[in-house]
Amino acid sequence: NFVSAVVPPGEIGIKFDDIGALEEVKKALNELVILPMWRPELFSRGNLLRPCKGILLFGPPGTGKTLVAKALATEAGANFISITGSTLTSKWFGDAEKLTKALFSFASKLAPVIIFVDEVDSLLGARGGSFEHEATRRMRNEFMAAWDGLRSKENQKILILGATNRPFDLDDAVIRRLPRRIYVDLPDAANRAKILKIILARENLEADFPYENLANATEGYSGSDLKNLCIAAAYRPVQEILEEEKELAHIRIPKYESYDAARKVESLG
Ligand code: ATP
Repeated sequence: NFVSAVVPPGEIGIKFDDIGALEEVKKALNELVILPMWRPELFSRGNLLRPCKGILLFGPPGTGKTLVAKALATEAGANFISITGSTLTSKWFGDAEKLTKALFSFASKLAPVIIFVDEVDSLLGARGGSFEHEATRRMRNEFMAAWDGLRSKENQKILILGATNRPFDLDDAVIRRLPRRIYVDLPDAANRAKILKIILARENLEADFPYENLANATEGYSGSDLKNLCIAAAYRPVQEILEEEKELAHIRIPKYESYDAARKVESLG
């Protein structure tokens, strides 16, 4: 239960093509993860070219890190395990050490697998000094030890993909274990237009819908903000229909009039 999802690659339902913009991120992940999965022979020569075992996605909230992680599992044909740092440290406080062990032994049976650790900072943030609870410290050490066990197994196809909005809170030891770090940035206007096209792909919009105007008017919006904006806009007609229905109902059964009519009937005896 402390794992929020375990999904086989065919069931994730998100591919790189479902993600607007983030071309550099997709390109980097293609080289680091997808190619080594599908063309291992390219990486078997020499000592420097080794499949990557730890990657950090960092950047502002809502920029698509979770989306990228899921799509990566689809593209790489890997199982996807997702855990959230704050759930592991709060809800499973105390049991977390045991569960960490179980997670890694489970994961190694599911290889090829991507373990996505969202909010990796709250699981493996900088050591909390004297305020840190003993159980948290033990769990963190367990996680690191299990992780190192993984990294030493050359052929195990297990990737830890961490995501954070607060990279500066991460422990040095964690940073070292996530040797590749990929910045997932807020989109510029051209990229916002690309994201809007994906978000609105299945809506019934006019052929000349002004994506560029909307993109220009949404400076500073993340992909998630754009999605929320579109959802709010989609609900507007629903609100209008409800308002209209209310007005029609009002015309058909004017409450005060029927009240009046009833009183008149009463007064007639
Ligand atoms: P957080 O840091 O807050 O966890 P995140 O970076 O993991 O956020 P996601 O959860 O992946 O962001 O994004 C939230 C939602 O926003 C997605 O489910 C998707 O609907 C939409 N979204 C974000 N970025 C994109 C994108 N580049 N293309 C299409 N949709 C996007």
